Amino acid sequence: MAKNKVSGKSSVSIDKGYKVCEDCLFALVNGDYPSDDKRAEAVLAGEKRVLPARFLSDASEGDEGAFSWRACDCCKSTLGGTRHAFALVTHLSP
Ligand SMILES: [Zn+2]
Repeated sequence: MAKNKVSGKSSVSIDKGYKVCEDCLFALVNGDYPSDDKRAEAVLAGEKRVLPARFLSDASEGDEGAFSWRACDCCKSTLGGTRHAFALVTHLSP
Protein backbone atom coordinates (compact mmCIF):
# COMPACT_ATOMS: atom_id res chain seq x y z
CA MET A 1 0.00 0.00 0.00
CA ALA A 2 3.01 2.30 -0.24
CA LYS A 3 2.44 5.34 -2.36
CA ASN A 4 4.99 6.44 -4.90
CA LYS A 5 6.43 9.82 -4.14
CA VAL A 6 7.54 12.04 -6.96
CA SER A 7 10.74 13.66 -5.80
CA GLY A 8 10.41 17.42 -5.77
CA LYS A 9 8.83 17.67 -9.17
CA SER A 10 5.39 19.10 -9.58
CA SER A 11 3.43 17.35 -12.26
CA VAL A 12 1.72 19.60 -14.72
CA SER A 13 -0.35 18.61 -17.68
CA ILE A 14 -0.44 21.14 -20.50
CA ASP A 15 -3.00 20.81 -23.23
CA LYS A 16 -2.37 23.23 -26.07
CA GLY A 17 -4.38 24.34 -29.05
CA TYR A 18 -7.21 26.28 -27.43
CA LYS A 19 -8.43 29.57 -28.83
CA VAL A 20 -10.26 32.17 -26.80
CA CYS A 21 -11.91 35.48 -27.65
CA GLU A 22 -10.86 38.96 -26.55
CA ASP A 23 -13.33 39.06 -23.66
CA CYS A 24 -11.89 35.83 -22.29
CA LEU A 25 -8.33 36.97 -22.90
CA PHE A 26 -8.79 40.04 -20.71
CA ALA A 27 -10.67 38.10 -18.05
CA LEU A 28 -8.18 35.22 -17.90
CA VAL A 29 -5.03 37.31 -18.12
CA ASN A 30 -6.00 40.52 -16.32
CA GLY A 31 -9.03 39.49 -14.28
CA ASP A 32 -10.93 42.13 -16.24
CA TYR A 33 -14.40 40.73 -16.89
CA PRO A 34 -16.85 42.10 -19.47
CA SER A 35 -19.17 44.83 -18.14
CA ASP A 36 -22.09 43.00 -19.75
CA ASP A 37 -23.45 40.56 -17.15
CA LYS A 38 -24.38 37.88 -19.67
CA ARG A 39 -20.90 37.95 -21.20
CA ALA A 40 -19.21 37.92 -17.80
CA GLU A 41 -21.31 34.89 -16.82
CA ALA A 42 -20.37 33.09 -20.02
CA VAL A 43 -16.68 33.68 -19.36
CA LEU A 44 -17.00 32.48 -15.75
CA ALA A 45 -18.95 29.42 -16.90
CA GLY A 46 -16.15 28.63 -19.33
CA GLU A 47 -13.57 28.88 -16.57
CA LYS A 48 -15.62 26.60 -14.31
CA ARG A 49 -16.20 24.06 -17.07
CA VAL A 50 -12.50 23.26 -17.40
CA LEU A 51 -11.77 23.02 -13.66
CA PRO A 52 -9.51 21.84 -12.14
CA ALA A 53 -7.58 22.92 -15.23
CA ARG A 54 -7.01 26.58 -15.91
CA PHE A 55 -6.63 28.55 -19.10
CA LEU A 56 -3.13 29.97 -19.54
CA SER A 57 -2.04 32.32 -22.29
CA ASP A 58 0.10 30.36 -24.72
CA ALA A 59 2.60 33.01 -25.70
CA SER A 60 4.90 30.33 -27.09
CA GLU A 61 2.95 30.42 -30.31
CA GLY A 62 3.93 34.06 -30.56
CA ASP A 63 0.75 35.10 -32.26
CA GLU A 64 -1.03 38.37 -31.70
CA GLY A 65 -4.32 36.65 -32.28
CA ALA A 66 -6.08 36.19 -35.56
CA PHE A 67 -9.60 36.78 -36.79
CA SER A 68 -11.71 33.67 -36.71
CA TRP A 69 -15.32 32.53 -36.70
CA ARG A 70 -14.36 29.56 -34.56
CA ALA A 71 -16.30 29.38 -31.30
CA CYS A 72 -14.35 30.58 -28.29
CA ASP A 73 -13.10 27.59 -26.30
CA CYS A 74 -13.90 29.34 -23.03
CA CYS A 75 -17.19 31.23 -23.29
CA LYS A 76 -18.32 29.43 -26.49
CA SER A 77 -19.10 32.73 -28.22
CA THR A 78 -19.54 32.23 -31.93
CA LEU A 79 -19.22 35.90 -32.78
CA GLY A 80 -16.45 36.52 -35.26
CA GLY A 81 -13.45 38.17 -33.69
CA THR A 82 -9.86 37.86 -32.65
CA ARG A 83 -8.91 34.52 -31.13
CA HIS A 84 -5.86 34.10 -28.95
CA ALA A 85 -3.81 30.96 -28.35
CA PHE A 86 -4.32 29.44 -24.92
CA ALA A 87 -3.39 26.21 -23.21
CA LEU A 88 -5.21 24.30 -20.52
CA VAL A 89 -2.94 23.66 -17.57
CA THR A 90 -3.73 21.07 -14.92
CA HIS A 91 -1.67 20.63 -11.78
CA LEU A 92 -1.70 16.94 -11.05
CA SER A 93 -1.78 16.05 -7.41
CA PRO A 94 0.99 13.68 -6.38
ZN1 LIG B 1 -14.59 33.76 -24.96
